[in-house]
Amino acid sequence: MMSDIETRKLDPDEMFAALSKKISDSGMDMDMGRIEAAYRMAKLAHTGQLRKDGSPYVTHCVAAADIAADMGLDEDSIVAALLHDVIEDTDLTHSDIAKQFGEPVANIVEGVTKLTRVQYTSKEDEQMENLRKMLMAMAKDIRVILIKIADRLHNMRTMAYQTEEKQRQKSLETMEIYAPIAHRLGMQRAKWELEDLALMYLDPTGYKEITDTLNDRMDTLKNFMSTVETKIKKRLKDEGLQVTVYSRIKHIYSIYRKMYAQKLDINGIFDLCAFRVIVDTIPDCYNVLGIIHDMFKPVPGRFKDYISTPKPNMYQSVHTTVIGSEGIPFEVQIRTWEMHRTAEYGIAAHWKYKIGSAAETIVKDGDEEKFAWVRRLLESQQESDATDFFHNLKIDMFADEVFVFSPKGDVINLPAGATPIDFAYSIHSAVGNSMIGASVNGRIVNFDYVLQNGDIVEVRTSKNAAGPSRDWLNIAKSGSARTKIKQWFKKERREENIERGRAMFESELKNKGLRMEDICDEEVLPQLLKKVSYTSLDEMYAAIGYGGMAATRAVNRMKDELARLHHVSGKKTVLEKVTEAAERREQQAHKKIKPVHGVLVEGLDNCLIKFSRCCTPIPGDDIVGYITRGQGVSIHRTDCENYARREFKPDDIGRWINVSWADEIKESYATAITVVSRERNGLVMDIATIFNALNTKVRTINARDTGDKSIVNITLETSGIDELRTVVNRISALPGVVEVNRNGGKR
Ligand code: MN
Repeated sequence: MMSDIETRKLDPDEMFAALSKKISDSGMDMDMGRIEAAYRMAKLAHTGQLRKDGSPYVTHCVAAADIAADMGLDEDSIVAALLHDVIEDTDLTHSDIAKQFGEPVANIVEGVTKLTRVQYTSKEDEQMENLRKMLMAMAKDIRVILIKIADRLHNMRTMAYQTEEKQRQKSLETMEIYAPIAHRLGMQRAKWELEDLALMYLDPTGYKEITDTLNDRMDTLKNFMSTVETKIKKRLKDEGLQVTVYSRIKHIYSIYRKMYAQKLDINGIFDLCAFRVIVDTIPDCYNVLGIIHDMFKPVPGRFKDYISTPKPNMYQSVHTTVIGSEGIPFEVQIRTWEMHRTAEYGIAAHWKYKIGSAAETIVKDGDEEKFAWVRRLLESQQESDATDFFHNLKIDMFADEVFVFSPKGDVINLPAGATPIDFAYSIHSAVGNSMIGASVNGRIVNFDYVLQNGDIVEVRTSKNAAGPSRDWLNIAKSGSARTKIKQWFKKERREENIERGRAMFESELKNKGLRMEDICDEEVLPQLLKKVSYTSLDEMYAAIGYGGMAATRAVNRMKDELARLHHVSGKKTVLEKVTEAAERREQQAHKKIKPVHGVLVEGLDNCLIKFSRCCTPIPGDDIVGYITRGQGVSIHRTDCENYARREFKPDDIGRWINVSWADEIKESYATAITVVSRERNGLVMDIATIFNALNTKVRTINARDTGDKSIVNITLETSGIDELRTVVNRISALPGVVEVNRNGGKR
């Protein structure tokens, strides 16, 4: 795994000579004088600095440049790699570099320096900020991140000299940030090595278990690989195909992941080897596939065609898993030489095989499109708040993808679990915002239909569409769709958002025992607004209303700031009063209305909750909340008539809010049902007997006769929908009963 440069005695001049030879031998047309000048500058600048192993520091710079050369980067990149640590660690500045090597090189070095200063942290919000910085740097010049990956790779290779704590920290960072970025850039080779090195430090025991086993079995594995390889070569040659066949043992981290995902001991993993067949043309790929399937028995469900549907990082190949005569399964990847280069070096392959062309090729239209995800992430982060951005990035970067088609046959890739809503927004936000329906493979589907690979998705739009609904935020899977939906609410429904946000804020304020007067005090309001970073209360309400800020957070920050102002100014009179009054009110509130648990309200903590009388929801019902004026949130069933009629009360529509049942529900809930029966004697008695037998508590039971029918209204207490169903089934089975309905539903 280690390149030979690492194991040799570390003499920088000798290392640089080897690098120069490598570059000349590669046939890349580079100005060797300029590269040597960069080496001299770095060597001079780092004079006296040593690495942890005792070698001169500049050996690290040469090693990073060597990796950059292996990646096939251009001349400016090699120069920048040699100088990548001078701004950080020596007296040299951006302008020193610019003067001798030009602006682009100086900018790359500065970009790398910025990334170096980004300190890894396990705190989510800080990690988010770090990733954002990286993406910014990448978007400016992708070579910055490529050199950073080369730098990291060399540091990981030489990590043995660092303290244990540093090893762990750097390995975690490598696993969580650099390997995924390398993957996204299609740099399979760098990704594998980074993962294996990081694993070695993160789980030394697990790593050793695998390497030991592989070493024990090396003879068997090698035998097996050469037998199969020879077999494949011979057969393909007989068929008249010009091919190159490789075999390899899979990289350690991929075996490790498989062991954990499938909860297997390493002895349970058969699929340790992989074979690769490289051909000249795409038709040959499929010819080879046919022949392989003829030679060995294919494992069903393991064939993947990334040639017709490339991965978002440009990766193309066909994969299949087959079983050899020994009964051992193995994977075969088939690809052309061009696909092979892209797979190994990813984006870097663009320089490697466009010798002589300027680095600007990287920003040509086609390439830019392939890295659209970087741009998308940057766009989405401008509109969303910090935690959202991190969440979106994680989803967009690490989630598995699903590929679907537009009716015209364009391939659209979306995160696994994506719905027609994600599809519509990935085409354009205007398509999403005017969507009124969707069909998949010619059939109309619900908006929450989960798209499958290969689905042909068609979106129906209308100029008169009402725009997205808030439910869509729960249905959309991709970060970018959610961001676009939120943007719509932010822009299109400002008034509604303010009203809704105000209601949520007031409710939360009340819950924390504060009053609007406490907040609106002229002396404190500007400070409080500053604390939540809004210029006016309406701005803040709007943000709460569209979901950009949680009401809980706004109130908590303001409450803390109030306490702080109190502390700092010593103005006891006003603020003491506030605090005292707040405590008093809180006590009273608790006395008056017992908080009902069991329901979670989006964006609000512990707010007052009551269950509506119109539809009496119980656990198991689909529910929705309505922010009342001053009486907390009232909970309705989603099939409640009042909820169904919300469209007719546009002023109130923003008061409807997402709620859900909590996991732990201890109490019993009141609900109402109506029994309709043929008139007969003893009906009420029979019903009462059932309740008695089921040990269900009844609050009220009223019966009336309407000529030929008896109607019985019952209010009962129940733990949830399951218990209620039993009750309803038993009553329905009574003689004469025509129907049993819950009250308040649309029917
Ligand atoms: Mn470095």
